[in-house]
Parts: sequence; C-alpha cells; structure tokens
Amino acid sequence: MQRTANISELRKIIEEEKKLGRAVALVPTMGYLHRGHLTLIENAKKTGAFVVVSIFVNPLQFGPNEDYARYPRDLERDARLIEEVGVDLLFQPTVEEMYPHPMVTFVEVSQLDKVLCGANRPGHFRGVTTVVSKLFHIVQPDLAFFGQKDYQQYLIIRRMVSDLNLPIEVRGVPIVREEDGLALSSRNVFLSPDQRQEALILSQSLREAETLIQKGERSARGIEDFVRNKITQESQGVIDYIEVRNADDLSDVVEIKGPVLIALAVKFGPTRLIDNKVVEVEPDV
Ligand code: AMP
Repeated sequence: MQRTANISELRKIIEEEKKLGRAVALVPTMGYLHRGHLTLIENAKKTGAFVVVSIFVNPLQFGPNEDYARYPRDLERDARLIEEVGVDLLFQPTVEEMYPHPMVTFVEVSQLDKVLCGANRPGHFRGVTTVVSKLFHIVQPDLAFFGQKDYQQYLIIRRMVSDLNLPIEVRGVPIVREEDGLALSSRNVFLSPDQRQEALILSQSLREAETLIQKGERSARGIEDFVRNKITQESQGVIDYIEVRNADDLSDVVEIKGPVLIALAVKFGPTRLIDNKVVEVEPDV
C-alpha cells in the first residue's frame, strides 16, 4: 500500500494510475476505522478501481463545543487494517496540508443542510461539503463511497455532485451494525458498558417503527411519538431529534406514502449517536 500526507505526491500517483486507464475510487473517512468503513472499502475494491482511502479529522465540520479534540485517532492501527484489506493508497493529510491558510471559500448545499443533524449543528454540513469538494479535486475519483449511517450526508453529497456536475459516481453503502443492532461508529468507544447497553434502544425502536409502518401506521408524527416515548421511557438517552422525512429529498412528511427516512440523534452522556432506517411503503391502490 502506498501512503502519503502530501497533495502533490498524491496527484502524481493518481496521474500514473489514470494513464494506465484505471478508474479511481475514493473512500473518505475520519479514521479510527471499524467494520463499517471496511465494508465501504470492500465495495470500492469490488469495482476493480484503484482504491484511495483518506483519513482526515476535518476541523471545519466540528462546532466550537463539539468533540474535535477528543475524536478518537489511531493512524497506525488504521493503516495496518486497510493494508490488510488491500487498499492501494492511504491519503493522511495534516490540517496544515488541507488548510494552509484560513478558508474563505466554502461549498454549501443549502436547504438539505438545515434539517436533522444540520438544525443543531450549524456549519457542520458546510464543513463536510467543503472538505469533500477539496478531496474530490485532489483525488479526482471516478467513484466515491459513502455510508448510509450518515444518510443526510450521503444525500447532500449526491446533491452537490449533481448540482455542480462533478464527474463522480456516488455510491451509498447500507448501515453496518453489531450483531445486537448497534450501528458501528468510531464514537462507540466513548460509551460506558451501561450506555452501550442502553444505546440498543435506538436500533430496536427503529425496527419496531418499521414494523408499525408495515402494519399500516401512516402518521409520521405518530411514528416519531412512538420512537420518542420508547427511548424516553426505556433509557437515559437525551433526544436531539427524531424525525420522519421523505427519504429522497428530506422534505416534510405528514402521511407516510413513498420511501421514508426515520432518523434520530440521541446523546448518551456526552456521546451523540445517530441512527436511521429507510422504510419503503407500497403506494395504496
Ligand atoms: P466517518 O469516519 O465516521 O466520517 O465515516 C466515514 C464513512 O464511513 C462515511 O461515509 C460514513 O457514513 C461511513 N460509515 C461510518 N459508520 C458506518 C456504518 N456503521 N455503516 C456504514 N457506513 C458507515
């Protein structure tokens, strides 16, 4: 596996691969890799492309009171893991390499960035779309892989690529979970054993909500209330949001018709976890 922290070195490597006619696939991450990330990488590898994994904890997407400084990092462990799965190139830039001077240019996907996680994390998605744009310009991938664990991020990136006519195919990868249902996340290491146990309520309530919809419940607010009550009654989790929205464009839903996204963010102690489920509904005939 090749490895660089340097943008011009990376460009040279990519140029060589492109000269050989090889497609390039990018998997952007913030590191502290787990099976979720590795599944994205496996999907990228299956395409036969030259696979680039970036590891960069992007300060631009963290708010002043968020966990940038304490976000878990272990670059050497990450490098060993991805070398084992056959990644071709690890790009591990420093903050100075990505942001040599204060940024005054930003990429913003408006509207979609104002709801769900965007409502309580102002500037978060602007930070994400700006760094992903930079990575797209640096790596010039033909394909890019994003997890549906961050469903809103996935939709926002797709929309950015479409609005800006970027020649990149964005592929979404379903959420990878622990056997007991907890969605894998680098932040799970912060959970105490009790919190880890309580956090199972997230995937459980999403599964039950899906069953309710399949049994005929069509009220979006009814589903939100059900999930909210279950989490409040059965855990100490502090709810940031629970919302049912249109899964294609995140627009408001009152009566559940097409595919809907049930999305939530809940804090266990200082650790904020997100999870979601997309539920397809057959239109009534
Ligand atoms: P992160 O390092 O948390 O920024 O995540 C990097 C990429 O991995 C993003 O596209 C995430 O959506 C994806 N990802 C993280 N956790 C999971 C998971 N449990 N299942 C699927 N994709 C994931």
